[in-house]
Amino acid sequence: MRREGRRAIPPASFLADQRKQRGEAAQRFAERRSREDEAPRLRQQLPGLAALVLEIEERRRDGIVGMGPRHIKRIVVESAAALFVVPCGDPRCKEGGHDITQSVMAALRAARTRFEGHEECCGSQGNAPCDRVMYYVGIASYT
Ligand SMILES: [Zn+2]
Repeated sequence: MRREGRRAIPPASFLADQRKQRGEAAQRFAERRSREDEAPRLRQQLPGLAALVLEIEERRRDGIVGMGPRHIKRIVVESAAALFVVPCGDPRCKEGGHDITQSVMAALRAARTRFEGHEECCGSQGNAPCDRVMYYVGIASYT
């Protein structure tokens, strides 16, 4: 008599979903790492940049404030990549994140000492787009 048939074996599709999710997360991480490694260095792009701080706050698209504390991100200008990608703060969000590289680099190239903007999350929650919007303020100094 075969015993295998009596075990509670999860449906194959469940296992496949789990494997797929783990694989996707690992791949996203690897992609982010290689993007950071391949990105040009901030120092090369902006030799005159002395210091950069980004204040970051996430809100919902409907404008309700107070999704969480305001984050202060002190950029190590000597070694940082010229890449500004902030992960989405909502754990339900898939494939999300805020890429503010272009607008931050434009402000720094223009030698702005204070600049601000916002960026909607590009991810999704279930079938709906993610509702997070990231507001940021940059404070920079130059030599
Ligand atoms: Zn998101």
